[in-house]
Amino acid sequence: MPEKKAVVVIVGGGFGGLAAARVLKHAPVKVVLIDKVNHHLFQPLLYQVATSVLAPGQIASPIRGILQDSSNTTVVLGTVTGVDIAAKQVMVNNQDRTDVRVSYDYLILATGQTHSYFGHNEYEKYAPGLKNLADAVAIRNKILTAFEIAEAEEDPSRYKDLLTFVLVGAGPTGVEMASAIAVLIQSTMKSEFRRIDPNSARIVLIDMAPRPLGSFAPDLSQASLDRMKKLGVEVMLGKGVDSIDGEGVMVAGERIASKTVIWTAGVAPSPAGQWLNTDTDRTGRVKVRHDLSVQDHPEIFVVGDTASLEQDGRPLPGVAQVAMQQGRYVGKLIERRVTGKSAPRPFRYFDKGNLAVVGKGFAILQSGKIRMSGFLAWLVWAAIHLQFLAQSSLRVSVLVQWVWTYFTGQRGSRLIVKHHVD
Ligand SMILES: Cc1cc2nc3c(=O)[nH]c(=O)nc-3n(C[C@H](O)[C@H](O)[C@H](O)COP(=O)(O)OP(=O)(O)OC[C@H]3O[C@@H](n4cnc5c(N)ncnc54)[C@H](O)[C@@H]3O)c2cc1C
Repeated sequence: MPEKKAVVVIVGGGFGGLAAARVLKHAPVKVVLIDKVNHHLFQPLLYQVATSVLAPGQIASPIRGILQDSSNTTVVLGTVTGVDIAAKQVMVNNQDRTDVRVSYDYLILATGQTHSYFGHNEYEKYAPGLKNLADAVAIRNKILTAFEIAEAEEDPSRYKDLLTFVLVGAGPTGVEMASAIAVLIQSTMKSEFRRIDPNSARIVLIDMAPRPLGSFAPDLSQASLDRMKKLGVEVMLGKGVDSIDGEGVMVAGERIASKTVIWTAGVAPSPAGQWLNTDTDRTGRVKVRHDLSVQDHPEIFVVGDTASLEQDGRPLPGVAQVAMQQGRYVGKLIERRVTGKSAPRPFRYFDKGNLAVVGKGFAILQSGKIRMSGFLAWLVWAAIHLQFLAQSSLRVSVLVQWVWTYFTGQRGSRLIVKHHVD
């Protein structure tokens, strides 16, 4: 009788889960990859969908299409709701059934993060965050609709709050979004309206921190600040948001009237820590050991944004490279285990560097001792992002779109599309 193959269940087809599945393609195991959406999403370019540069289909691909050559892998569309550690099963809600149990010999949790409103969930209604394609399309609708309402308005005094865009959080997403909205207005919309002047729009970026892009060196933060000022973005630093409602935001006692507030501040991990009932860090990420397994459970691994691991005394950041390297590491570890080979060395993250875009043709780059800002850094940013898109068809499509947009100002998808709720 043929030997029964070990079953590896991977929850999440993002950067970490997909990297693990790819490594396990030739391993003598059965892989079941479960995701609540049918596509792998390239989150670093979400802001370009929100600001109409790219269409949703240019930054996401069906997971089963990406893994079509992995004959040992079954892709399941479903939402995992918990883990029964004793029975070695995960509980899944599918489209038509609830609480379906899927058994595993090895479990990889790669469920990423979601928004955190720091205890103010009531803000979500007025200030959507950017995490998935639906968020990006909703924000795109909101930005474009604001211009349409203003153009249709006879009373010019009402334009002010309609054409004021407030972003809360000056990390990479806030800076990239704020600058991209400025470019959208200045290079694409400027000559299309008759009653309003799109250039009169106000873009305000707010953060408690003393400088934007705090994970970069201070001189690069300053370069991004100078660039945003050139683009006309008002950056308010060292100021916290007191409240957000349907009329705008209160910042340090001052009201900024706005119909478009976007949340680009906090993130919170998936509930993997609760499912496993195990140790988490103060943000809720699962503390993993140096082989990325969970304490007392060598068969359960957590990777990517939902895992917490320190290296050289500092926590690893929630970035795509960490998730991919961790996913690959766990895939290799499992392959070695099932083939009777020795365990690999503890996981070590290799930091290739950090990049952020600040408007058209300008990025900042920090890699080891190398620091760069400007057009060359932007070319490096573009090359790296193209390389990491999941499929070659997306790389070609995005490259063509970027070149077209760069020279013509025309966008990939400037449509207001309201989807029906199923
Ligand atoms: C707007 C934005 C911009 C970013 N920009 C950059 C950048 O420029 N550079 C960079 O390095 N990083 C960037 N990041 C961070 C980067 O995207 C993450 O670090 C990376 O995606 C983490 O990979 P992951 O595999 O842990 O999670 P994800 O890639 O988020 O994947 C998680 C997967 O799990 C699935 N899932 C979640 N819960 C369940 C469940 N209960 N059941 C089934 N499936 C589930 C989700 O649908 C998703 O497919 C950005 C993130 C965002 C949101």
